[in-house]
Amino acid sequence: MHENENARKSSSHFTPRNSKPKWDDRGLGNTCRFENGKMFFGGDPFDQFQNGGMDGGPGGSSSNADTTKLYETLGVNKSADAKEIKKAYRKLAVVHHPDKGGDEHKFKEINAAYEILSDPEQRAKYDRYGLEGLEGGAGGSGGHEDLFSMFFGGGRGGRRSSGPKRGEDVNHPLQVSLEDLYNGKMVKMAVSRQVLDGEPKMCTNCSGSGAVVELRQIAIGMVQQVRRKCPACTGEGYMAPKKRQREVLEVLIEKGMKNEAKIVFRNKADEKPNMEAGHVNFVIQQKPHPLFKRKGADLLITKTISLNEALCGFEWRITHLDNREIIIKSRSGEIIKAEKDNKTPFVKIVQGEGMPSHGNPFVKGDLYVLFTVEFPEDGDLKPDQIDMLRKILPGASMAIEYDPEVAEVAHLELGDVKNFGKGGVANHDRAYDSDEGGEGGSQQVQCQQS
Ligand SMILES: [Zn+2]
Repeated sequence: MHENENARKSSSHFTPRNSKPKWDDRGLGNTCRFENGKMFFGGDPFDQFQNGGMDGGPGGSSSNADTTKLYETLGVNKSADAKEIKKAYRKLAVVHHPDKGGDEHKFKEINAAYEILSDPEQRAKYDRYGLEGLEGGAGGSGGHEDLFSMFFGGGRGGRRSSGPKRGEDVNHPLQVSLEDLYNGKMVKMAVSRQVLDGEPKMCTNCSGSGAVVELRQIAIGMVQQVRRKCPACTGEGYMAPKKRQREVLEVLIEKGMKNEAKIVFRNKADEKPNMEAGHVNFVIQQKPHPLFKRKGADLLITKTISLNEALCGFEWRITHLDNREIIIKSRSGEIIKAEKDNKTPFVKIVQGEGMPSHGNPFVKGDLYVLFTVEFPEDGDLKPDQIDMLRKILPGASMAIEYDPEVAEVAHLELGDVKNFGKGGVANHDRAYDSDEGGEGGSQQVQCQQS
């Protein structure tokens, strides 16, 4: 589809910016972001959800629903055409972009208003039913769970059921690799759905109500009214010939989408007579990645380096999720520690090399590197190497003076802090070695030595 090509064009346009490590061009961040922002709006990320002028579904318009707020938000007339709406949106989005010091809430309102008004189907629904007609999500952005509080503040007092009834939504889990969530991707999914094959006719058994009332005698001269689902139309009120139909849906995985995000195909679930069809939702299941772990827009990798590298510098190569080759390289004099003072792993970050943010893919998270420093093993260093290191490295151990007749020299064995407190008579081996059992630790060390 051409919309998708658009999205790809705008992303490849900016690839060069990311081909260098971030510390080289950090100063350029703001100007680039502005340019990116303009491109982003030009790319029209919502285009792909315009699926033509379908009707808003059965049911009359709701008299008390507000159907002007979204137009006001974009500052256009209710009669504005698609071009005018797009123009107004772009202008406002640039002015109110948070990166340009704009108000984030206002920016979100503008985006939500545009997302609805730029989609003919949704716009028609909004014109008829107001925001309530749009319940249950729009576009692929995971839904407007709270359109009302976004535009009118606070909660809403009780739902008015003015829109048409809608059938049940269907959720399909969709396994997606981290690469595809980074780069975005279009996948085609075939679904089989029930569609109506002819005009629905009102059920004569229940006169379209879907329910029948039966009188049940509970005692002599006493009857009870029982309402139950109409068996003829299974409660649908209408009957229509149905058939199964295979349909291929183009599922657009947008850059930066999160695990469990929903891609919504409005009214693509089973069709039922006199009812709006439910939505088909593809629910993203992010597959584990062998190198990167993800949290929000940030990525994390673990890296084991040698003590030599930790002290003297390192460089290594990673292939990023968009196949870019990145050389992670220490600066001169940079030291990687075995762990931080509070005993947590030593972490550094590469700025801007995380995941793209969903909705604004030009703002990326960071890449966290969690280090493990591998020390040499016992005996790896020869005496002359040790002498050299002692001269070079700060903090050399000072020789102390002691009388060997008085002081005792102790060496170290491997220990486990889990055994701390289990020493003494509780430990059989040691109890056998010791005559008295009650002496201090230094005597036990001596026993082990001999
Ligand atoms: Zn019926």
